[in-house]
Amino acid sequence: MNRNVNVQAIVLKARKDGDSNRNLTLLSVDEGIIEIRAFRSRTSKSAPKAYQFQEGMFFLYYNPVNKQYSLKDVQLISPHDGIKQNYEAIISASIMVEFTMRTANDDMANTYQLLARALDFLDDASFEKDVVVIQFLLRLIKEHGLIEDFKKCPVCGSTYKEKDILNFSHELNVACCSNCEKIPTLILRPKARLYLSYTLGMSFEDALAVKLNESTRIRIKNYMITWATCIMNRPFNSLGSAIN
Ligand SMILES: [Zn+2]
Repeated sequence: MNRNVNVQAIVLKARKDGDSNRNLTLLSVDEGIIEIRAFRSRTSKSAPKAYQFQEGMFFLYYNPVNKQYSLKDVQLISPHDGIKQNYEAIISASIMVEFTMRTANDDMANTYQLLARALDFLDDASFEKDVVVIQFLLRLIKEHGLIEDFKKCPVCGSTYKEKDILNFSHELNVACCSNCEKIPTLILRPKARLYLSYTLGMSFEDALAVKLNESTRIRIKNYMITWATCIMNRPFNSLGSAIN
């Protein structure tokens, strides 16, 4: 393996390592999720540094003996400074990063593009943060093959009627008709279903412009977070116990 590796990546996590180093978890376009060490990043002014949610080109050295990547240099593409200045943006970005890590697979190229765009939107104060989270989770759950179009039941194939309320199959982690799952543990009402179905056909940016009133927005966000929780099979650490 080439010992010098350059990757375009997003910092998913940054952790202290002893008194002077940092360990970073990166999501890269080509290598997927990788762990790297940034030596002296906490103590030396001249050492290369990168922080959580930043996107950049990372110049790495790979040590084949201990199988470790270390950071040689970084050129930021999007520092996403706006996220760090807004508590709601930090929580939103943390939810997206946690779901990305918990559902990681071998092919992360589309996930990378999705996360990079979503972080750009969170960085921009003009977009509603809840809607960025809704649209990110919707698109990543679709990427995982668990959403078709909200127009027919993915289990039995029957077409939904306009006023149908959907239930949820915990076995398959999909929204489905009330014949396929009779116990309403997680329901999707017609208006919310229409919103999800309609915006799924749009670009991410166009979907963010679709207006939602506050109570509908919060209800749909809670629905998407509960769905993601079912897929992860564990609660979000990012939400702690205070929210949701
Ligand atoms: Zn069905």
